[in-house]
Amino acid sequence: MRRGRRSGLFTIAAVHSTVRGPALGGCRMWRYDDTRAAVADALRLARGMTYKSAVAGLPLGGGKGVIVLPAGAEPPRGGRRRDVLRDFGETVDVLAGRYVTAEDVGTATRDMVAIAEATRHVTGLPRAQGGSGDPSPFTALGTEAAILATAERALGTTSLRGRSVAVVGLGHVGLRLARLLARRGAKLVVSDIDRAKRDEAARLGARWTTPARALTAAVDVLVPCALGGVLDDETVPALQAQAVAGAANNQLAHDGVADALQARGILWAPDYVANAGGIINIAVELEPGGYDPARARERVRAIGDTLREVYDRAAASGAAPLSAAMALARSRLETPSA
Ligand code: NAD
Repeated sequence: MRRGRRSGLFTIAAVHSTVRGPALGGCRMWRYDDTRAAVADALRLARGMTYKSAVAGLPLGGGKGVIVLPAGAEPPRGGRRRDVLRDFGETVDVLAGRYVTAEDVGTATRDMVAIAEATRHVTGLPRAQGGSGDPSPFTALGTEAAILATAERALGTTSLRGRSVAVVGLGHVGLRLARLLARRGAKLVVSDIDRAKRDEAARLGARWTTPARALTAAVDVLVPCALGGVLDDETVPALQAQAVAGAANNQLAHDGVADALQARGILWAPDYVANAGGIINIAVELEPGGYDPARARERVRAIGDTLREVYDRAAASGAAPLSAAMALARSRLETPSA
C-alpha cells in the first residue's frame, strides 16, 4: 500500500499467489471506512482470484488492486481521476510484474490507459491499443456456456428452446446474456431495480417482474446477474428453479448455502467458475502472439467443460459443486505447470 504522490489517496496492490503465474486481478475503486478495511478486502479478493484462475486452468496467480476512496467521497473525475490512476500504476510497478492489473468494479477500460502511463503491467486496454477491451461480453458468453452445462445435468438437455429462465439484473453482463438466451429460444422472465431496463425486456420479448419475484419464479433456471449475497437462508427455501447459474459474484451469503441448495436438489453452478469469462479473455493478452478475440471466445466457451468436470467430481464424492470446485482448484495449485 502506498500513498499516491499526486492524489494523496492510498492505493493497494495485493498478491495472494504467483505459483501458477503472475497474479492477475482487477483494480477496484471503492469507498472504505479506513485503510485497514481496504487492505483486508484486497487480500480477500486476491485470494479469490487465485482459486478463480486455478479452477479455470489459467497460468495465473491471484492478485487484486484497490484504490481507496474515503467514506462518502465521490469517485474522482477528469484530471484528478488520471492522477489517482497513475498513482495506482506506480504502486503496481513496484511489484515488477508479479502483479498485473485490469479493470474491476469502479474502473473501466479507459482507466487502464491512464494506469499504463505509469506501468506496463496492465491488461484490459482498449482493443484499438492491442488490449482485450470490455470484458462483459466474454463474461456473458462464459455464463451462457455455464448455463448450458448446468441445464444438461439438471434438465437432461442443452437445448433451452421453450425452457423458462429468470435473469435478475440487466446490466453489462445480464442484458447481453439475456439476448443470448433469447436467441436460444428460452422463455425469459427478467428484472432489475432500474425500471428504465423495462424497455429492454420488451425488446427481448421477456416478461418483466420485480427482483424478489424473479428470484423465486417457477422457472427451469435462475440466472443471478446483479449483486452478491442473493442466495441465503431465507431465499433458498423459497426458490422454485431447478438450477442456478449466473454471473453475479459471491452469490452465496455463506458457504453453508451450497449444502442447502444441494439438499433441495437445486444444482448451483459455483459463481467463480461460471463468471470467469472476463479473466479468461484478459489472460489471452498474456499468451504468446498477444490478444486474439477468436482464441478468447474458444477459451471462454471451455467454461462448460470445466463445469462438467466440477459436476462429475461432485457426483462422485456426493459433495456440493462448491466443494468440488475448490478441490479442483487446489489440485491445480499443486500442479503449477499444468
Ligand atoms: P452492472 O453494474 O453493469 O449491472 C448490474 C445490474 O444489476 C444493474 O442494471 C443494476 O441496476 C442491477 N441491480 C442492482 N441491484 C439489483 C437487485 N437487487 N435486483 C435486481 N437488479 C439489481 O454489473 P455487471 O458488469 O453486469 O456485473 C453483474 C454481476 O456480475 C456483478 O456481480 C459482477 O461482480 C459480476 N461479474 C461481472 C463481470 C464483468 O465482466 N462485468 C465479470 C465477473 C463477474
